[in-house]
Amino acid sequence: MNHDPHRAGTRVTVIPGDGIGPEVVAATQRVIDATGVKILWEPHEAGAAVFRRGLPSGVPPETIASIADTRVALKGPLETPVGFGEKSANVTLRKLFETYANIRPVREMPGVTTPYSGRGIDLVIVRENVEDLYAGIEHRQTAGVAQCLKLMSRKGCEKIVRLAFEVAIAEGRKRVHCATKANIMKLTEGLMKRTFEAVAPDYPQIEAHHIIVDNCAHQLVRTPEQFDVIVTSNMNGDILSDLTSGLVGGLGFAPGANIGNEVAIFEAVHGSAPKYAGKNTINPTAVLLSGVMMLRHLGELEAARRVEEAVLVTLERGTYTRDVRPEGAASTDRFADTVIANLGQRPEHWRARDVQALRMPTLDPTPDFMRLKTRRTVGVDVFIEAEISPAQLGPTISEVADGLPVQLKMISNRGTKVFPATGAVPDCVDHWRCRFVLRDGMTALLDDTIAELLRRVARHHRWMHVEKLEQYDQDDGFTRAQGED
Ligand code: NAP
Repeated sequence: MNHDPHRAGTRVTVIPGDGIGPEVVAATQRVIDATGVKILWEPHEAGAAVFRRGLPSGVPPETIASIADTRVALKGPLETPVGFGEKSANVTLRKLFETYANIRPVREMPGVTTPYSGRGIDLVIVRENVEDLYAGIEHRQTAGVAQCLKLMSRKGCEKIVRLAFEVAIAEGRKRVHCATKANIMKLTEGLMKRTFEAVAPDYPQIEAHHIIVDNCAHQLVRTPEQFDVIVTSNMNGDILSDLTSGLVGGLGFAPGANIGNEVAIFEAVHGSAPKYAGKNTINPTAVLLSGVMMLRHLGELEAARRVEEAVLVTLERGTYTRDVRPEGAASTDRFADTVIANLGQRPEHWRARDVQALRMPTLDPTPDFMRLKTRRTVGVDVFIEAEISPAQLGPTISEVADGLPVQLKMISNRGTKVFPATGAVPDCVDHWRCRFVLRDGMTALLDDTIAELLRRVARHHRWMHVEKLEQYDQDDGFTRAQGED
């Protein structure tokens, strides 16, 4: 794809990154070069220095252009310095290139002693990488109340779920667990669960299980060896993958790949660990194994196997960095030199997984992914700011709908119904959701009615947000408040 026949090599954008990034990325480049695979590294900047120069995204246009061209990047961790930029440069890169999957494998490593040693932990977290709360759509709706939109699409769920099954096939794994919070967030996390259940029959050779994400965390701590592939949403995956790295000896051993249809960006799970920057003591294994994932992505399966085996041999023969054995620890450079010296050696007791090329799922590229027979607006939630009690608010809000095709059904505060009174006494804030629904006999709610309703509400209170209540093929596209019947 990006092989340059004139210079006989494959072009890869390399971003050294911040803190410990330059050390671990340089170590990885040296090891990859030592395999004989010809990579034409194209160094580019992103992160702290770029933010400090005043670029709010932290990612210069030259870096974006290089990745768009090479379509493969090896990246160190990036920092967002306090007071500069409000978006993470990491998330910006993942989103700009629609690298919708974050693949984070962990496995037990030779001689890296943990409470789980000997249990054979070897699993992959497949984390959705661009949707969910990480869409980063936040609003402060009143002075004291903020919201973050959790956006999940049917298409996003299908892409990540199919990719998880493809990872299982490519790596010869037997089962996929889908970890969601569908029991609480029925429309967002529930979409992931329903999509998983719809897609799983297309992969009959792989066992498919749904698991509630909190139980998944509990099970991971108790019996992690039961898991093979875990597919999950962005926020869940962020947390679970740090947990799983802890099971095998910490962030120094947790590689990762951000994969999309066009671009793939390889990076460790860990951050820039600033206190270790420039000390030449940090563990480069996580980035080295990210490099192994990159070699596989480039079709260099044999070189990938050789690097992975050399890392296993290095550990098996007792070379460790400070995070594993503080006494007599190898420096970052010495660890990388030992891996290079061990290229071509086979580990005695450990095997590298036999990984085949990953097949990317192909989906309908059109945005209009779900086609409906019917759709109807049956009500509207108007969010208002008011510093009064529900008993005072209810009657005035009821009256504003007099003579309109809608009537007030209920008012909730932070998701709990407070009017009409239920007997519960929640601790209210100044942020209220007023739910209006069609009166009996009315078939559809028109935008003109909503506009008139808002005009009338505004005579009494400040409204800051409106959400239509839609039915899709007769299914409610909204949830009830706690206590709403
Ligand atoms: P961190 O940099 O991952 O470091 C947390 C701790 O993990 C370190 O203090 C160290 O533990 C251990 N650790 C991390 N990498 C290691 C390695 N290669 N070898 C051995 N131990 C390692 O997390 P943070 O301190 O929360 O974040 C620092 C900065 O990195 C922040 O600005 C954050 O935003 C950024 N960050 C970037 C990325 C990314 O670019 N993808 C990801 C995460 C965080 P001990 O202290 O116990 O030795």
